[in-house]
Amino acid sequence: MIIDLHTHSAHSDGTESPSALVESASAAGVRVIALTDHDVSSGWAEADTAGRVHGVSVLPGIEVSCSADGITVHLLAYLPDPEHPALAGELERSRRSRETRLQRMTELIAADGYPIDFAQVRSQAAGGATLGRPHIADALVEIGAVPDRQAAFTTMLAKRGPYYVSHYAPDPVTAVHTVIAAGGVPVMAHPFASARGDVVDDAVIDAMAEAGLFGLEADHRDHDQAQRQYAVDLAERLDLAVTGSSDYHGSGKPNRLGENTTTPEVLAQIIARGTGSTVLGAALP
Ligand code: AMP
Ligand code: FE
Ligand code: FE
Ligand code: ZN
Repeated sequence: MIIDLHTHSAHSDGTESPSALVESASAAGVRVIALTDHDVSSGWAEADTAGRVHGVSVLPGIEVSCSADGITVHLLAYLPDPEHPALAGELERSRRSRETRLQRMTELIAADGYPIDFAQVRSQAAGGATLGRPHIADALVEIGAVPDRQAAFTTMLAKRGPYYVSHYAPDPVTAVHTVIAAGGVPVMAHPFASARGDVVDDAVIDAMAEAGLFGLEADHRDHDQAQRQYAVDLAERLDLAVTGSSDYHGSGKPNRLGENTTTPEVLAQIIARGTGSTVLGAALP
């Protein structure tokens, strides 16, 4: 049974609607997906409906943006109550800051002579979607400045690049507490993906574990073999579960559904712990 607990739809920076994502999962033989859009839960209901039709169980999730002294951390939250005031407040604050930040990045790029503006960047995203750098990338592709998202990230949108602007995000220990308060199960996404930018040192992960972190995402495309093993060893030392997932973004990234997976045992533990939202979609195994 293929279980893939990290995917994105057009409610953030994926390219497929939640229902199209579920159809893709079904076609790929994936039996369980978690829909984990960045900082938003608005895609859950549509994914749920499509999951019932296509025989795909949808675990509700959110990939919560965090910042540990400027270092980006992504925290997957499974089965949280998205209306829990503290969680909802943090997510809304992040989404608003992402919008201002994208506007500023767009202005910096436009000031350098690229014919883009914020309206065009915004039009790359569905209404209400969490905005991110991939939407600027899509605008740059549209004007022919770069061939694809990947090229935009390596040449213009990199964290150390000339146009990068940061946005508000809670620190990861606070986020772990908040996710748990909302009944969710927190798992740190791609903890050692150094190719994306700086990663936190183990002391931060220790503190997250102390706060109640449930697991580490070890099997992920952005981890090499040594990083996967390091994650497995650290999880064992800290008594954390281990997950694996694709981080699918539709055509926005090469990641394919089901390319990394989570065991049924770990999924069962997540379902047993998560109390914030109901399991959606087809009956979970
Ligand atoms: P942001 O959250 O706005 O800082 O943008 C980060 C997002 O950009 C990540 O969630 C990825 O989905 C996406 N991203 C990062 N690097 C790349 C890349 N090389 N190609 C395509 N998408 C990327
Ligand atoms: Fe993303
Ligand atoms: Fe991520
Ligand atoms: Zn992701």
